[in-house]
Amino acid sequence: MISTAVHTLPVRRPALLGRALRRRCPQCGGKGFFSSWFKLNDHCPTCGIASEREDGHFVGAVGFNTIFSFGALLITLLVGTWATYPHIPVVAMLAVCFGTAIVVHMLFWPFSQTLWMAFDLGWRPATEEELDPAYLARTVGV
Ligand SMILES: [Zn+2]
Repeated sequence: MISTAVHTLPVRRPALLGRALRRRCPQCGGKGFFSSWFKLNDHCPTCGIASEREDGHFVGAVGFNTIFSFGALLITLLVGTWATYPHIPVVAMLAVCFGTAIVVHMLFWPFSQTLWMAFDLGWRPATEEELDPAYLARTVGV
């Protein structure tokens, strides 16, 4: 039997960030937090922490994804304008911007989820109530 306290200890922010950038659970660094590219499991299979820490938790992830996607879109626009000025191919530029917005948004989504969770864990460390009851029954017999 192990104590649940090991899974709710505050984690240093650089570790949280590094784990999030590798699509791992920010709390424990365990693999298997995602069931697909886009979908987080309800709980981490390694430490049992809930992926949705409270109702509406992933509004922050949507915000991160929007900021990153718009940043990529802005860079695309600036580079495209700089490279083609004064004869800017508007239709081609729109197509490239549209593609950038879609692709970056989809590619960054899982990272925005783990990054948001890492930021949240940095501000508000995990509590025992967030751990998966099945995980607790399996590991500590609660
Ligand atoms: Zn974990």
